[in-house]
Amino acid sequence: MNLQEILKTYFGYDEFRKGQDKLIEGIVKGRDALGIMPTGGGKSLCYQLPAIALDGITIVISPLISLMKDQVDSLNEIGINAAYINSTLGNKELLDILDNIRENRYRIIYVAPERLNTGVFVELVKDIKVSLVAIDEAHCISQWGHDFRPSYLEIPRFINSLEPRPMVAAFTATATKEIIKEIKILIGLKNPIEITTGFDRPNLYYQIIKVSKKCKFLMQYLDGNFKSESGIVYCATRKTVESLVKMLNDNGFSAVGYHGGMNSAERQNNQDDFILGMKRIIVATNAFGMGIDKPDVRFVIHYNMPKNMEAYYQEAGRAGRDGEKSDCILLYSSADIVKQKLMLQNDYLDPERQEVLYKNLQYLVNYCNTNDCLRNQILKYFDEEPTNDNCQNCSNCLDNSEMIDITLEAKKILSCIYRVNQRYGTNMVIQVLRRSKNKKVLEAGLDHVSTYGIMESYSNNTISEIIMTLVSKGYIYITHDKYPVLKLTNKSKDVLSGKIQVFHKKHLLQKKEEKNVKYDKAIKGKDVDFDKKLFEKLKEYRHKIAQVKEVPPYVIFHDVSLKEMAAYFPQDKESFLEIKGVGDKKHENYGKDFIDLIKTYCNEKGLSPIKQIKEEETIKEKQDSDKENKLDRYELTYNCYLEGFSLNEIAEKRRLTPSTILNHLEKCEKDGKEVEWERFIDDKKEKSILKVINDIGTDKLKPIKEALPDDFSYDDIKIVICRYGLGVC
Ligand code: ADP
Repeated sequence: MNLQEILKTYFGYDEFRKGQDKLIEGIVKGRDALGIMPTGGGKSLCYQLPAIALDGITIVISPLISLMKDQVDSLNEIGINAAYINSTLGNKELLDILDNIRENRYRIIYVAPERLNTGVFVELVKDIKVSLVAIDEAHCISQWGHDFRPSYLEIPRFINSLEPRPMVAAFTATATKEIIKEIKILIGLKNPIEITTGFDRPNLYYQIIKVSKKCKFLMQYLDGNFKSESGIVYCATRKTVESLVKMLNDNGFSAVGYHGGMNSAERQNNQDDFILGMKRIIVATNAFGMGIDKPDVRFVIHYNMPKNMEAYYQEAGRAGRDGEKSDCILLYSSADIVKQKLMLQNDYLDPERQEVLYKNLQYLVNYCNTNDCLRNQILKYFDEEPTNDNCQNCSNCLDNSEMIDITLEAKKILSCIYRVNQRYGTNMVIQVLRRSKNKKVLEAGLDHVSTYGIMESYSNNTISEIIMTLVSKGYIYITHDKYPVLKLTNKSKDVLSGKIQVFHKKHLLQKKEEKNVKYDKAIKGKDVDFDKKLFEKLKEYRHKIAQVKEVPPYVIFHDVSLKEMAAYFPQDKESFLEIKGVGDKKHENYGKDFIDLIKTYCNEKGLSPIKQIKEEETIKEKQDSDKENKLDRYELTYNCYLEGFSLNEIAEKRRLTPSTILNHLEKCEKDGKEVEWERFIDDKKEKSILKVINDIGTDKLKPIKEALPDDFSYDDIKIVICRYGLGVC
């Protein structure tokens, strides 16, 4: 079987995910490998598939004992014999497994690192052919990382003891340069094929919500989203966990709690209920999550702000491992920032370390206050250069509300900070701006500074919101002292001198409670429209099987497979095997029962099977028809334009980038069709762009972009150029 056939026959997938093919090909051809992929990127397949293709056994070293059973169950379910060796095994079980290994009964064995250099294991591997050693969570070998496991340092000795040396493949989701360097050196990877797929998780939707009544938001969200699917709510304290669990259960939601104060049996019980799908929601502190591989977590809500971006991304990243659309929502409140800062002050840390931690926290605060793409903020944190200004799948990019010019307000605030000698924090600055008669203000003589009362008509919240925006844009710096003070940065001069304009989303400056705007989420990738009732029935049936087999439901079938069944109603072997995640073994084990269930349902409802059209076929069909009549592409775009859609909406509908849409429209205009470019850009932006173009011309777009504020995109510039026929778009 070639690699593609193995992928389909065993795993039931039609195509490799980004990077998988290259890593797998490399390993199968005899090279070492290093795969740096985000959570949910599909690292496991990169060693599980070679394990089938190669002669001999694959040893997988993993620190997460709790995951081994699931992984092994899942492999056995798809017909790949596997076992694990760790401290949870009894003596008899261990001996049986060792015998089976000697008799070559397994393709893959998972081993805890502590076991590698034990006498029994060292003896065992002398008798068998090890073709591949795969190291999961390879960053655990690095003392720089936060997950350092001393037992990982045992790995090189183990590999060196193997004769002949097998291929070695290491995988991690951590991409800092120091750690990657250490992994390569310490593990001793030899000329590995190295693939970094980047940090982006396109199926995750990011949202920041600023509400005062978090519980109300939470209940509304749970009521209206992913109703029968699972999610995690992260809280800062045990107390919040307990009170939320109570509130949710009192209001008819099925929720359990998880925190370090519970006894381990209770914790395990609650975790199992969540993983096995008996409870929809787990409300937890950050104690929950490590070693949780549940692929169908549809939402991760942070009820409180975590301590930094790394922690946030790790926790939020537990959503949507299966690649399905999922939500990552952070409920923001300034009280959380204060709490985090207090915690930092109370920790006894050396000043350098404390400074780093403050910086990390501030990055997350800025993330909460930016108007820019949230995904890009995350990527930049991990040193990844974003490729697109607008991801169309975060609350900022989907927020089409008007941007207003707040340069004047910004200047007033910055001047006030200057006038009070950069000696006060946010509250005091706001009070001065709002002409407060507060004793502290008067005692300090701040009623005599020239900026006293110049923002009298603004609310506390609005000024505070603008201050946070100015911080996130780097015009103000907040010190990390016990009493944080607002300071001006060098960049602020450009605002004060009028060189730079500052913009902000209009609705964010309106009344607090209006901020909870619900955005339509982007339709990303192939989104099957499925029969909800049939999906529920299939889930129920899956649940029964899972209970009998004592495995989590997703070991039987992932949600995505059931959704496809409920969309295409497969009623024979051929169409059942077309379903994503259904390979030969799954069909053999469950095909008949699931097909019977689908048939009965379809007969009752008078539904017929629908032919599943593969994405490649659709693309091919599209390309063929495009070839036949090239002009159609432009007409299709122009028709969308005539229907009044926005630029991004047209791009979404046509599955093209906004910039290609602009090219299409320009072509249409050249062909004599009328295009109202002004529909795609507001007056103010246009004026600013024209001003810059006037100064520096249109030879190159980059200098124009650089001369404009950050919220101007290349597309904005192109629109103005097209509108006035100033160059070639
Ligand atoms: P990671 O270890 O990188 O966090 P996993 O190996 O657990 O990710 O994979 C995440 C999910 O993606 C799993 O549910 C897996 O079955 C699925 N998956 C992996 N490769 C593919 C693929 N080529 N096509 C579709 N789904 C895939």
